[in-house]
Amino acid sequence: MTLVPDRIFDTYRDITPEFLASEGIEALLIDIDNTLAPYEQPLPDEHHAAWFRAMADAGVCCALISNNKPERVRIFSEGLGVAAYADCGKPSRKYLKIALSDLGVEASRAAVLGDQLLTDCLSARRMGMKAYIVPPIKDKTTLFFRFKRALERPFIKKYHRLHRKDEK
Ligand SMILES: [Mg+2]
Repeated sequence: MTLVPDRIFDTYRDITPEFLASEGIEALLIDIDNTLAPYEQPLPDEHHAAWFRAMADAGVCCALISNNKPERVRIFSEGLGVAAYADCGKPSRKYLKIALSDLGVEASRAAVLGDQLLTDCLSARRMGMKAYIVPPIKDKTTLFFRFKRALERPFIKKYHRLHRKDEK
């Protein structure tokens, strides 16, 4: 069950403060690449700004946790005014711990939002955090990425099987 996410959303914008409140979630640690924006989009757009503002207004603490380089993470996060951590090495727990400690929120009241099961979802699980997943906005098509997606497939299927059962 480790790699089965708690929820799969079509896009980060489908996650609302109301949903997070209903789940008891006070903090979101969010991946950048392919979760919020494709690799080639250096700056956040007005949708990001509105979504992060809505979260802040509702008292949801947000931070960015990326495996990408400091320059990419700095440029993207500056426009949003949220804390950001680069070179996180997910599925390592190191920067998730640091981010939660900086935000002052317990792991049990926090979730990771990302697009990859083997990094984002696994790091959340290892912390005892909820894992929310979105499909990658624009996947790389290298053999390595296709291989990683193939590894994820059974867990995504399992998620859909479990949730079909919930609805019955
Ligand atoms: Mg990603």
